[in-house]
Amino acid sequence: MQDLAKGVARFQRDVFPAKVELFTHLATHHTPHTLFISCSDARVVPELITGTEPGDLFVIRTAGNLVPAYSPEADGVAASIEYAVAVLGVKDVVVCGHSACGAMTALAEGHDLSGAPAVAAWLRHADASRARAAAADVLALVRQNVLAQLANLATHPSVARAVAQRKVTLRGWVFDIATGRIEELSTAGPALAA
Ligand SMILES: [Zn+2]
Repeated sequence: MQDLAKGVARFQRDVFPAKVELFTHLATHHTPHTLFISCSDARVVPELITGTEPGDLFVIRTAGNLVPAYSPEADGVAASIEYAVAVLGVKDVVVCGHSACGAMTALAEGHDLSGAPAVAAWLRHADASRARAAAADVLALVRQNVLAQLANLATHPSVARAVAQRKVTLRGWVFDIATGRIEELSTAGPALAA
């Protein structure tokens, strides 16, 4: 907590004053251009790796950057997707996987998750990803998982509508922690590219 308090003090002393005009504008405007869906992993920082400012990205972070396929029983992820796409009108949606992902490593290497039952249940949303990738290849699974989650994303009515109307583009990225590089995956196919 000590570090957080120091960080807050530093933000208020050094960062906020330099961006006071931006924050004054943002106080009454919320118009992000991108819905960015990434893993909760602490090493993946969406605004940092995209060089964006507060107000630019609407961010959803889940373990393994998993996006459950649409179901009528709405959940927090579905609500956030719908709000970003249908209400805020984002132009781009990025699903961003990353190297050394703990969730994908656990799946690729068949780790025992009996001590983390919620994680095990959540990772079932990557079943299609596992079916696409060769066993025990973590990076291949990371890539296939991004593509599988883009397919899940497209089952949400708000996304399907926006894609059909060419109002939104779906993109798949993989961030490499060691080099800072981003690989853009081909999402060729009429369902994904606008
Ligand atoms: Zn991860």
